[in-house]
Amino acid sequence: MNWPADYHLHTPLCRHAKGEPGEYAARALALGLDEIGFSDHSPMKRDNFDNWRMRFDQLDEYVAKVRQAQKAFPALSIKLGLEVDFLPGHEDWIQDLARRHPWDYFIGSVHYVAESWALDNPEDIRKWAERDPIEVWSVYFERLGLAAESKLFDIIGHADLPKKFGIYPKQDVTPLFERFLQKAARSGVAVELNTAGLRKVCREIYPSRAFLDLAARHKIPITFGSDAHAPEEVGSDFAAALDLARAAGYTETWRFNQRERVKRRL
Ligand code: ZN
Ligand code: FE
Ligand code: FE
Ligand code: ZN
Repeated sequence: MNWPADYHLHTPLCRHAKGEPGEYAARALALGLDEIGFSDHSPMKRDNFDNWRMRFDQLDEYVAKVRQAQKAFPALSIKLGLEVDFLPGHEDWIQDLARRHPWDYFIGSVHYVAESWALDNPEDIRKWAERDPIEVWSVYFERLGLAAESKLFDIIGHADLPKKFGIYPKQDVTPLFERFLQKAARSGVAVELNTAGLRKVCREIYPSRAFLDLAARHKIPITFGSDAHAPEEVGSDFAAALDLARAAGYTETWRFNQRERVKRRL
């Protein structure tokens, strides 16, 4: 089987994942993957911003861990990435992070729809009840569009994340998808098929078939990611992700090396 690269893997440095990079790599080899990439949650400028990411002083340790796995698994291509939170106003910080190491790619993810609310945080799920879902989805996709336009990222992470807990607006969200995809098309950023959604209440890959059909029409490149927070999650449901990509008309995926991309047939 010719599997796509799994570009969305975490490490214990983010404080909510388990297993060292070497264990993720061993799992990938056992599954027959030929390329993976680590993309742990990026540090924020302030270490007390939240409690689910590495501290700034752990960034070098993170890179060293990935380098160590590269040395231990020469048969596997292992890329150095980062899942970077996009918040308006954090652009300078993200540029600063980009200059610190020879990254292969940055995944830009929107989790925060307000300065202190990450909409996917189970500890803050009650905040959903205080707002109309369409408001949350709208702010989210507005920010996702800014992330695409910022040119700070190679890949946009879990594009329809607000569906995680199965809370959907009663309104049609197609215009939100469409506005984001127009911006993504102009910027050239890729979108990932993230299989973690299958493990959440929404029971669906991020993004949905409807979103991906529109993305294909806009010729948005795609990558694949399990968003593994444990070694056994590497490559999970990649067969389903491949089926989804093909159903939407995709025949290619992208691979990244030092922030340059090359096409691969699916
Ligand atoms: Zn995480
Ligand atoms: Fe994320
Ligand atoms: Fe992630
Ligand atoms: Zn994620």
